[in-house]
Amino acid sequence: MSTKVIEAEVVVLGSGPGGYTAAFRAADLGKKVVLIELYDVLGGVCLNVGCIPSKALLHAAKVIDESNHMKNHGIDFGNINIDTNKIVSWKDGIVKKLTTGLKMLAKQRKVEVIQGFGKFQSPNEILVEHDGDESKVVKFENAIIAVGSRPVKLPFIPEDERIFTSTGALRCEYAKGSMLVIGGGIIGLEMATVYSSLGADVTVVELAEQIILGADNDIVSPLAKILQKKCKNLYLKTKVVSAEAKKEGIFVTFEDDDGKSKQEIFDSVLVAVGRIPNGKLIDADKAGVEVTEQGFINTNSKMQTNVPNIYAVGDVVGHPMLAHKAIPEGKIAAENISGKNHHFEPKSIPSVAYTDPEVAWAGVTENEAKAEGINYSKGIFPWMASGRSLTHGRDEGLTKVIFNKDTNVVIGVGIVGSNAGDLISEAMLAIEMGCDAEDISLTIHPHPTVSETIVGATEMYEGTITDLISPNK
Ligand code: NAD
Repeated sequence: MSTKVIEAEVVVLGSGPGGYTAAFRAADLGKKVVLIELYDVLGGVCLNVGCIPSKALLHAAKVIDESNHMKNHGIDFGNINIDTNKIVSWKDGIVKKLTTGLKMLAKQRKVEVIQGFGKFQSPNEILVEHDGDESKVVKFENAIIAVGSRPVKLPFIPEDERIFTSTGALRCEYAKGSMLVIGGGIIGLEMATVYSSLGADVTVVELAEQIILGADNDIVSPLAKILQKKCKNLYLKTKVVSAEAKKEGIFVTFEDDDGKSKQEIFDSVLVAVGRIPNGKLIDADKAGVEVTEQGFINTNSKMQTNVPNIYAVGDVVGHPMLAHKAIPEGKIAAENISGKNHHFEPKSIPSVAYTDPEVAWAGVTENEAKAEGINYSKGIFPWMASGRSLTHGRDEGLTKVIFNKDTNVVIGVGIVGSNAGDLISEAMLAIEMGCDAEDISLTIHPHPTVSETIVGATEMYEGTITDLISPNK
């Protein structure tokens, strides 16, 4: 089969949030752009099998839970009839709307999209192959690698259709029966939230002593308590040591940290034990781009790799593997290629688990402040003192604001509660702007809102709180 040659000023490899943002920004800055994508839709993991579809399922879960909750408060919808197939097609429809939108945006910008798997042949050429099509060579001046990451596989887990990663979990084929979630990180817990609301008997197993390891334990524990009620079991300090797929189910053996083992049988198993970067899959060495042992590609703050005309963005350049890190990185790479001198130097990148309650944190955690020897202090506002939270029927939330004691400047915020993922944006702005305690506490927040809890936590730190008794009094 022949090979077609395509010329590009900028080629972008991978069309996730980092990749399509980079491609669109470069096109807007006047570059001739080619965007290479393995699948026949743009958007990558986040849009197709990650952030967006999971949020649709989490919304469905929330509606189910809130309907059940209101039974005790005067509204009884009767027995809720859950049609999982319909929920899944609604979710797929949302994804389709967004991927169609991206396709149009690419067309309007004259970004040429090529479907296939791209691999470097040299510092100026990428070979693109796709079943049944003639192969293509893209000759480029600059490249942006945005090839993302994939789920980690556990070597002792067998291949079986009842065992899946987050991609399979979004199909909701096993929404009834017993399910084991391996990994108490963000993906595992978001899916545990969805499946338990849909009616599955969910067990979560986590190796560490707490779920969501990156966050402080006080921020995570209200979620842990709710999951303990919602799920059949939440095993901590426990690892899965073997799994066997039989006709009757998946036989899983657990071992706790005392070395005691036990076996349980599940109808399905979700493996959510982290993601690994795809840096080793693209023959980067043929372009001279260095790839670490783990598969990451290092860049400078301009998102430039060790090869000056090749940039990299998103999951493949390092943790945290989050779309909202990839997007600004993609813009910066495109802008530097287009002659600007921009750097990716955020003070913080927020993390959010869209569980129920949501968990969000930004800046320095208390654990990190202790480990780094920072002279810090904190204010905590419990949401049981938030009138607005009580009107939502919820009292388990918590807002914690961490300050540098020497300067009174905010250095970190942790929030657990409904919509914590939205609330954390205020904390991000405060951290980015270098706000001190007064900047926050003297900013008028609307009443009644849960956003007031950020002021409340700051006033707890200052000792100026009137809604509670200050710990300093
Ligand atoms: P993770 O690394 O966040 O969590 C995996 C967990 O699995 C860890 O707590 C680990 O201790 C545990 N684990 C590992 N091996 C185990 C074993 N054998 N038995 C029991 N537990 C085990 O990984 P994830 O949840 O898969 O998420 C992957 C990436 O995707 C993360 O970088 C995350 O930030 C990102 N992500 C973010 C969002 C979001 O922003 N809402 C959503 C989904 C994914």
